[in-house]
Amino acid sequence: MKQSQLWMPTLREAPADAEAVSHQLLLRAGIVRQLAAGIYTYLPLGRRILRKLEHIVREGMDQAGAQELLLPAMQPAELWQESGRYDKYGPELVRLKDRQGREFALGPTHEEVITALIRNELHSYRQMPVTLYQIQTKFRDEKRPRYGLLRGREFLMKDAYSFDADLEGLDRSYRRMYDAYSRIFSQIGLKFRAVEADPGTIGGDGGTHEFMALADIGEDTIVVCDQCDYAANLEKAEFRREAAAWTGQQQQMRATEPEKLHTPSIRSIDALVQALGCGAADIIKTIIYLADGAPLAVLVRGDHEVNELKLQYALSITELHLADADTVTRTTGAAIGFAGPAGLPIAVAVAVDAAVADMPVGITGANETDYHWSGIRPGIDFKLGIRGDFRNAAEGDGCPRCQTGQLVFRRGIEVGQVFKLGTKYSERLNARFIDAAGKEQPFIMGCYGIGISRLLSAVVEQHHDAGGIRWPQAIAPYQVHIVPVSMRDQHQVETAEQLYAKLSASGMEVLLDDRDERPGVKFKDSDLIGIPLRIVVGKAAAEGKVELKWRESGESQVVSLDEACAIAAGKKQERDNCL
Ligand code: ATP
Ligand code: MG
Repeated sequence: MKQSQLWMPTLREAPADAEAVSHQLLLRAGIVRQLAAGIYTYLPLGRRILRKLEHIVREGMDQAGAQELLLPAMQPAELWQESGRYDKYGPELVRLKDRQGREFALGPTHEEVITALIRNELHSYRQMPVTLYQIQTKFRDEKRPRYGLLRGREFLMKDAYSFDADLEGLDRSYRRMYDAYSRIFSQIGLKFRAVEADPGTIGGDGGTHEFMALADIGEDTIVVCDQCDYAANLEKAEFRREAAAWTGQQQQMRATEPEKLHTPSIRSIDALVQALGCGAADIIKTIIYLADGAPLAVLVRGDHEVNELKLQYALSITELHLADADTVTRTTGAAIGFAGPAGLPIAVAVAVDAAVADMPVGITGANETDYHWSGIRPGIDFKLGIRGDFRNAAEGDGCPRCQTGQLVFRRGIEVGQVFKLGTKYSERLNARFIDAAGKEQPFIMGCYGIGISRLLSAVVEQHHDAGGIRWPQAIAPYQVHIVPVSMRDQHQVETAEQLYAKLSASGMEVLLDDRDERPGVKFKDSDLIGIPLRIVVGKAAAEGKVELKWRESGESQVVSLDEACAIAAGKKQERDNCL
């Protein structure tokens, strides 16, 4: 492609409201344009990159034995009512009416549609396993569309659905998709982790993994081991339990009588640490929740955070949220910030995290506004109630898997998810097959998503520098960028044209900057759009030499024309191998 012909409206500055680096660069490099919040046009360069992503995802799916189809985006509301999600999905579901007033939704996901299709078409266990996928535009009226393509309202997703006759079959289908995802993300050149996640509200009876691209802008905290490949979402992360040694403060408190401390307006752990000169690990934090409507006091060490999910699972709680100020006062007799487990005025269930149970002594609220106690002994001054692991993993905790590593926190962007749905949708939509024993059974399903447009941004988050994007070979819009320094130098122009013809003929995707611009402008644009290999045709072209420059490493070398072609061809080979 000749750059003079390519419509690639680059910008010197990104609009002020583009916060994420990837958003700024995608706008500046002429890759996307915004139409409305969370709704984007892909310009020619953007469309090329999307196509490459789609291609890699398609190949990965096909290799894993999945078959492509295309489901409708416009879906009758009745289907969503049947699954029970019409109301549950809430305002994120884009709803519309046809001319007869019949209600429809624009698909945010396709479990309903695919289950309704299968229930009419698949009848026997012999027809399974089947995995079907599509690449399609999805609609979600997100509350906070932001960061460009990272959270859009209209976005491109690959979604796949597996149908199996038994749980072992589902395990196999799931594993195949999990492995395909790992290959796909590696091919794209993404640094990622597959993390154990919580099945959450989609429901279902199996496990789920989220594939997280590592990037500081990521909305999720993921917990990873610094030694092995253990990784989990913060809410799911486990850790190796080790009893902490007594701190100096604890030894001192243990040697003296409990003491009531006047702590006016000191409500937070930080403020207590400041005022008392103790460590956060010397404090027992008491948080009042409403668990299915009843007050519940949860105790964790001052340097730990409550993990609500673990609490919910351990105590079979359906609805859990922080108690309001009134409930706190009714439960503790004090304002928020002064709750403690000893001497609660009313009988309240108490959940005690294992690390608190291990403390010899601690500082707690006194259930009296403006007072705390020091020297409170778990198990002696208050009953240990329900004990368990109720806290989040913390940085520095031991890895639960490898026994030697330590956990560290990273930020991640969810680029894909694999999910064992079980029979949730097949039961609700009454989709059944006849098993080997001649009995009717609901299909056992899995669902598997990849955010293709989100991936585009995630790659840019990981691959850029101050000058612009650095596309990984596999998804670069072009592989080689030929830049003649001066279009007024006939020799340079001819050499560049020759190279362009030769490389293009060998099947390479080449962009030739044939614009009559100053070299500074050309190089700036070249850095910005980030094609992996640049061939600079300058004065040395007179001696048959050109400069190769790699965008990713910044390295460069001067070579002959033949060498330039050979090296570029090698790059093509590398890319083909990777596809
Ligand atoms: P999130 O938690 O980020 O809202 P999700 O868990 O609701 O995502 P899924 O239903 O699992 O998303 O969708 C499959 C994939 O689609 C996600 O892994 C993500 O990569 C992508 N995706 C989801 N929502 C969006 C969005 N608003 N914009 C772009 N991509 C999205
Ligand atoms: Mg998800």
